[in-house]
Amino acid sequence: MVTLDTQDKAIITDAPALPACAICFDIGGSTVKTALAHGGGADPVTGLTPLGRQPTPLNDLGDFAAVIEKQVELHAPDPALPISISITGVIDPETGILTCANIPCVDGIALADRLAERLGRPVQVNNDAACFTIAEARRGAGRGYPIVFGAILGTGVGGGLVINGRLVQGAGGFAGEWGHGPIAATLAGDPPVDIPRFACGCGQKGCVDTIGGARGLERLHSHLHGVTLTSREIIDRWNAADQSAARTVEVFVDLVSAPLATVVNIVGAHIVPVGGGLARAENLIERLDEEVRKKTLYRFDRPLIVRGDCQVEPGLVGAALIATGN
Ligand SMILES: [Zn+2]
Repeated sequence: MVTLDTQDKAIITDAPALPACAICFDIGGSTVKTALAHGGGADPVTGLTPLGRQPTPLNDLGDFAAVIEKQVELHAPDPALPISISITGVIDPETGILTCANIPCVDGIALADRLAERLGRPVQVNNDAACFTIAEARRGAGRGYPIVFGAILGTGVGGGLVINGRLVQGAGGFAGEWGHGPIAATLAGDPPVDIPRFACGCGQKGCVDTIGGARGLERLHSHLHGVTLTSREIIDRWNAADQSAARTVEVFVDLVSAPLATVVNIVGAHIVPVGGGLARAENLIERLDEEVRKKTLYRFDRPLIVRGDCQVEPGLVGAALIATGN
């Protein structure tokens, strides 16, 4: 048995001898990842066994459910084992209705109820940014802090809020979604440059999501320099002291730090672990931390915006922790 371990900063330690306590899924627009969570006694989740990945069926709910069902039958036949899912999309806590543009066949349905009916056991479904934040708050960089705001800087921008170890879902399940709303500055950097109010997939213009994730970094670089590069190329060039890339990063940090500082003020966050692809650029997170701390009302004398500890499968880790209430 191969047990998942984040190696440098272990969220989940190796304990393969303990029994399974939940089967977990992390479902994105391209793959369904499965893992079995292990644990026992006072620490219900101590290990995760990855069980591979399958392509996500996008257009047929029957096919989608069959992927889950097959994994459950194969790896977790005991009906007492709960099923916990981390998914891209927002779940209304009142109705259980999922809004999920990336996977049309589950958009607009109460996915947890549908799967529970088909599989005959409890199913929980949570947003992937929420699962990341639970993982960080209970086992990662947020451990020991009462208010943890998890910020995702992935392809786009997302977030989750955990207070005293509990996930805050909010009206419609949108708590933590700082990526949307027409608030991005239209002037940024020193010297200032005009930033267009880019159209966002949510229907508004000027959302943080349009400038704040990997696609946003690429969009800014293209806007500033007329050159198309991947976010990784931009970060690599910045690290190699390329002036154009440095300008892009400076404008990016200026644009993203202001709304993030506002979030910290509003929710009273003690710590902001960052996940998603851009969190791998540790120096970018350090720059963001410097700028956000200049803009928050409270003067933090320690890092506030930090790279999340759980960079390996945070969706699965969070789903496991939610399933076991740990
Ligand atoms: Zn938007």
